[in-house]
Amino acid sequence: MTAPDRDFGPPSAITRRKMLKTAGMVAAGAGLAVSASASSSRIQDRVRPAASMSEAFEYRLLLGWINDNSNRPLSGGRWPITTVDEQTVREYKSFLRTAHDCGYNGITLWGLYASHAWTVPLNDSLEPRRRRLIDRILNDAYKLDIRVLYGLGVYRWGFEEIIKHDPATARNEGRIAWGSYQSDNGVAMCYHSESARQWMRDIVDLCVKEVGTQGFGFQSGDLGRCYCSQCRRMTDTEYHSRVINETAEYIKRQHPKQIVGMSAWGVDLGDGAEALNQLTSHLDFLTDVTDQSERKGREYRRSLTARLPCALGSLGGAVIVPPQRWHRDCWFLPLAEMTARSIRSLHEDGGRAFEYFMGPMANLQFDIMTRFAGRLLSNPQQSCEQALSQVVERLFEPANRGATADIVRWLIDVEHGYLTRAGDISSGEFDFEPLKGETAGEPIYLTRLSSEALIGYGNDLERLSKQIPALGTQCRRRQELQLIGRCMENVLRDVRQVLAIRANTH
Ligand SMILES: [Zn+2]
Repeated sequence: MTAPDRDFGPPSAITRRKMLKTAGMVAAGAGLAVSASASSSRIQDRVRPAASMSEAFEYRLLLGWINDNSNRPLSGGRWPITTVDEQTVREYKSFLRTAHDCGYNGITLWGLYASHAWTVPLNDSLEPRRRRLIDRILNDAYKLDIRVLYGLGVYRWGFEEIIKHDPATARNEGRIAWGSYQSDNGVAMCYHSESARQWMRDIVDLCVKEVGTQGFGFQSGDLGRCYCSQCRRMTDTEYHSRVINETAEYIKRQHPKQIVGMSAWGVDLGDGAEALNQLTSHLDFLTDVTDQSERKGREYRRSLTARLPCALGSLGGAVIVPPQRWHRDCWFLPLAEMTARSIRSLHEDGGRAFEYFMGPMANLQFDIMTRFAGRLLSNPQQSCEQALSQVVERLFEPANRGATADIVRWLIDVEHGYLTRAGDISSGEFDFEPLKGETAGEPIYLTRLSSEALIGYGNDLERLSKQIPALGTQCRRRQELQLIGRCMENVLRDVRQVLAIRANTH
């Protein structure tokens, strides 16, 4: 693995660490404002390495809610659970180290300080104990040249308390969410509200000056948008373009070193680059979360990458959302071929950004896939097998190339066992469990399969599980394969249980 491209890298780690330390000694509050702006100015000083990976994606990001990579199951509270403690910091230290080693140069984190609701006053969102923990995570990231982007809802998601406190931010005339009208609206602020604009700006300033973020990952589509008599005159694309551009333009004017990207949930990307001009003119990258532009045709996506003022990105089509509440050995679904196809085609079409949805490394699926995606993003010209071989060598230490190839083939067989029976899952959110309520949910990724498909998948898993001991004899690190075996046993248990329930109800 060659050294990652640092062009989109953060500033000197030592400088950053020193500044955080100084900030902590001088003042818990304003200190970080100094460190953030000072560190940002360093980005300009960086010289692009001559031997940089010219083919590498410019934005090689991980993405998720703060706890999506938690190595222990979480409980209590509605999704997303955003608890942070000493163990979270320890896990991030190791997670970020792996991310760095595999070539990522950024991470978009949701829920650093607020999920559903920023508090009023805003500064109260930065609870001191949590702040000390988050500062350590950010500091570890910066030491590793991994830039932290703040996952930020724009005009919606995060505003429940603000709307209650300042009713002028929203109009109670309903909202449009995922194409349908909802009469209730306690979540989406109005684009035409001056006070909404000010709250949005205040939150941005708080993130830059107090949190010390180095960029933003926007979303404006999730949970819907204002549908008052003024806002409804705009199409969804016009609406999102206005709120995104208003916020992005403010950031670029006030905090020009911040990277600004957007996950285009709920935004139609099908009307050509010109229709997206306002949306993208102050963005650094736009993530086509469901690969709409690819589905419209590769030529169409190429026309976007050629004409948009920002980088076009993807999540890989399928967003594999980890189950927050399940034990970490309850699933195993590596999707290397599907992910490689997505990364390669985006690269061929001129895409330069990619966000890989993170998960717990304690489950080997996410350990393998996080490393795999990072390596492909750093060198998209590799084949799926080449990148996967590197990961297999690192994780299992096979005795020779033949053993590596056997494990690579075996992992792809596990992928086929599910994908050949699940229909097309290459677009949109893919959930193992429903993520609703406060307890671990049922395995909906299995219940979506027909009984015939489930039986076939179970047979494949049984056959492939039996090969694990033989694969293990060819490796120095067998415990990882044994852990995969335990995961597959638990998946088989779920498969049998779903089939048994169906047999009893028919
Ligand atoms: Zn409105």
